[in-house]
Amino acid sequence: REIVVSGIRSTGVLHLGNYFGAMRNYVRMQEDYDCYFFIADWHSLTTHPDTKGLSGSVHRVLAEYIACGLDPAKVTLYVQSDIPEIAELYLLLNMLAYKGELEKTASFKDKVRQQPENVNAGLLTYPVLMTSDILVHRAVKVPVGKDQEQHLEMARNFGQRFNHRYGQEVFPEPYAFNFGHELLKVPSLDGAGKMSKSENQMATLYLNDDDDLIRKKVMKAKTDAGPTAPNTPMPDYIENLFLLMRLVSDDSTILHYTAAYNDAAIRYGDMKKALAEDMIRFIAPIRESARELEKDKGYLHKVMREGAEKARISAAATLQLVRHAMGMDYRF
Ligand code: ATP
Repeated sequence: REIVVSGIRSTGVLHLGNYFGAMRNYVRMQEDYDCYFFIADWHSLTTHPDTKGLSGSVHRVLAEYIACGLDPAKVTLYVQSDIPEIAELYLLLNMLAYKGELEKTASFKDKVRQQPENVNAGLLTYPVLMTSDILVHRAVKVPVGKDQEQHLEMARNFGQRFNHRYGQEVFPEPYAFNFGHELLKVPSLDGAGKMSKSENQMATLYLNDDDDLIRKKVMKAKTDAGPTAPNTPMPDYIENLFLLMRLVSDDSTILHYTAAYNDAAIRYGDMKKALAEDMIRFIAPIRESARELEKDKGYLHKVMREGAEKARISAAATLQLVRHAMGMDYRF
């Protein structure tokens, strides 16, 4: 079976972008692929050096993984820092990654703008750690959202560079995966950028939001007075509302509001009310189930322990190949 790897940073509760960009595909892939899904706690340190809430976030993301439908008996669920082989591979791959190419990465440039007081080396080498996450299991498919496309290209480069440098095909080429569809970007409700765990929390719908908060956020989403003539092109922020509606509403609702827009007869207040209720129908069961799971620390610890054991077997096998290719298995 093909090997799949993906992870989510433990930087807070998950949101709709994490769900539709990543998690939904994790769940769909668990039957047919050999899946490794992890909680990226090391990655979270690049932007969240304060570790007071970290343990809670790790438990939260794990509970949400399971609440969204991942079955620990079918997939390997683990915490990144439980797998020391990832750090070893990261160290080795860092010797093949160049400062210039890392500085050109779009996500690095964004972070330099967002946190000029903390431009740490971990931020710069983020794509190398992400490459190690993927290559440590020699994965070929990586279900991620659109924001990760460039990182996947870098992962292919680093892996191929290793293969050429040491003359062995240790690593296959990993590709971003969304069942043949374009990678998804779930927009934020303010019409600017993507939903995100760390930015503009009123414009992001979290899987932990209570019903009233969901209503409040959706009703505040950016709209305007509406089209004045039939078949007017949609502004981006209206397009975004329709995109969200296509994720959670049924076909008849979508058709109804699309026709109303094209007839220049749409009432955004009504559309947002319908969207809010459909959002609640989608989010509430995940929220309640994650809250229950979160209380059962014994169970979560068991899942983490068993996941780490399985993940380390695969990671250790890869590191053996790596050391051998590099001539670093001195005792043989
Ligand atoms: P942070 O705000 O802490 O950077 P994040 O919300 O961007 O976090 P990550 O943990 O960096 O989330 O990403 C986890 C997964 O969710 C990745 O596969 C990423 O592509 C996907 N993802 C995150 N935000 C979105 C979004 N708005 N639309 C689609 N996919 C997304």
